[in-house]
Amino acid sequence: MAKASQLHCSFCGRNRDEVKILIAGQDGHICENCVEHAQEIIAQELSAKQDNSSSANFKLNVRRPAEIKKFLDEYVIGQDDAKKVLSVAVYNHYKRVNSKAQQDEVEIEKSNIIMVGETGTGKTLLAKTIARLLNVPFAIVDATVFTEAGYVGEDVESMLTRLLQNCNYDVTAAERGIVYVDELDKIARKGDNPSITRDVSGEGVQQGLLKMLEGTEVLVPPQGGRKHPEQKMIKVDTKNILFICGGAFDGIDKVIARRVNTNAIGFSVNKEEQEHQRKNLLQFINATDLKSFGLIPELLGRLPVITHLNPLDAETLRNILTEPRNSLIKQFTRLFELEGIELIMDNEVLDFMVKKALEYKLGARGLRSICESILTDAMFELPGTDTKQLHITLDYAEQMFSKSKISALKVA
Ligand code: ADP
Repeated sequence: MAKASQLHCSFCGRNRDEVKILIAGQDGHICENCVEHAQEIIAQELSAKQDNSSSANFKLNVRRPAEIKKFLDEYVIGQDDAKKVLSVAVYNHYKRVNSKAQQDEVEIEKSNIIMVGETGTGKTLLAKTIARLLNVPFAIVDATVFTEAGYVGEDVESMLTRLLQNCNYDVTAAERGIVYVDELDKIARKGDNPSITRDVSGEGVQQGLLKMLEGTEVLVPPQGGRKHPEQKMIKVDTKNILFICGGAFDGIDKVIARRVNTNAIGFSVNKEEQEHQRKNLLQFINATDLKSFGLIPELLGRLPVITHLNPLDAETLRNILTEPRNSLIKQFTRLFELEGIELIMDNEVLDFMVKKALEYKLGARGLRSICESILTDAMFELPGTDTKQLHITLDYAEQMFSKSKISALKVA
């Protein structure tokens, strides 16, 4: 057998004392440098193969904007403006992705999107539904968990971790996915003078987002959180990832009002119309307002499509209960059906739920808890009995609701 001093790497020829580790094989040895080198070659070869087989030849079957909107209509009630803008932006984005695959000469810019609207008006639902339609990986991340690199919190890159996890770390699939960044308003710059105290969770995060939104190769920590030097990173190219951002931007209506008044919009229209416009100022939102709110111009430049969602009125809430393909009432009806029970809910009960959602300012999200508060007792008691029909009357609904925790909430 060879003496320790004579051992050497069979690939690069370095002696035992020139390397840190020498791994023995059947007829030879390999050093840590050659292992690393081999690993790089393998990664390159595999990704070249993958490019040839999937991403380069990959073509998303993009539907036309009108078809996208029609699909959204099945799941989301109202919000026609947002649906239209979103359908066009998504269509253009994936047209761009497809043309890239054909090495087009004209480079079309990305159409990342900002949606502004009160919480619970359907922003996440819209983004989720689009991802479902296109069958691309989708992740929802919360902008508030991120801080500027070097501070306690998560690096912005970790939002891609979520996307990778949702497609089983298939990098090629993730690279054409959609990321929904919620609560973008919470990383608005606080105050006009950012230099007084370091704004690590506001402007710092906005800066961190810039490159990623535009399109760059990002090293993503596979388990999320902070990047560690010793952690193995996954390289993800964000140039074809669509970022949709959402936020309530509380108080932005005042910013819009100031601008709109100075521009005298509504001057020529009648009083009623003026009143309507005042109530729904969000429809006039533009990048200037978002800048006044505290988003930096560079970030706004990378989120060129801006749209708004309307507050939900009684009629919309009523439709949300029954109209969408997987509406709340359809879901509960199905749950009872699985027990062999037919659920009948009087129209007055549905109106009652809407009334309570508005009264308690719970929005569409609250409809589910209200519905549950009415049906929980029945869902607890009926399974296993021979009941074949459950008829919910207004009396019963009122009685159940008054027993529930929601009714104990103080109305502001
Ligand atoms: P946001 O992201 O705007 O805070 P979501 O999209 O998460 O709100 O909405 C919360 C829930 O309310 C959704 O899961 C959905 O059930 C319901 N909802 C809200 N708006 C609508 C809508 N326009 N059409 C149908 N359902 C809606």
